[in-house]
Amino acid sequence: MNIENRLLTPNTFSRPGKRLPFVKGIVIHYTAAPGQRAVNTRGYFESLKNQNPEADHLVFASAHFIVDLDGHIIQDLPLDEMAYHCGAQTYKEEAMMRLSTYPNNCTLGIELCHKNSSGAFSDDTLTAAAELAAHLCRQFSLNPETSLWRHFDVTGKDCPKYFVAHEDKWNQFVALVNEYYKEENDGTER
Ligand SMILES: [Zn+2]
Repeated sequence: MNIENRLLTPNTFSRPGKRLPFVKGIVIHYTAAPGQRAVNTRGYFESLKNQNPEADHLVFASAHFIVDLDGHIIQDLPLDEMAYHCGAQTYKEEAMMRLSTYPNNCTLGIELCHKNSSGAFSDDTLTAAAELAAHLCRQFSLNPETSLWRHFDVTGKDCPKYFVAHEDKWNQFVALVNEYYKEENDGTER
């Protein structure tokens, strides 16, 4: 697994420096920008610092990791800091019960790049994301079968589009994470 550490500059809109005291879940997203590479998604999060705080419409957005089209991973936030990745006016009942009434405060966010408007992911992206998610489950003592969330499962947003449209592919992804998780727990050094 290839993780490049490129932390965002601390700023109100994408790296507010709020503490993430514990992690209860991992939320999977798609960038909704066909063909966009991870470095550019990171650049977008970084650029949010340039917003005029007086503007009418302000964007707050970030995620802890971005997985590129070729499986390269960029980490742009430390794991003990909160990202703005799944905030909303309202949340699904189950998310409020099992996560919190403000799930940003107890989840990690992973953005997945995708080639086209279908939102489908490349095998490289899925493999790297599954390996990353498995590693995080182990690090934070999470059960991969119950701790992975689509953004959709938290707020109802159509994200990641492909996994909302194809629930079977989402279940396959969760199963893949579980496989990597078990391999790690078997003590296989990777
Ligand atoms: Zn999302």
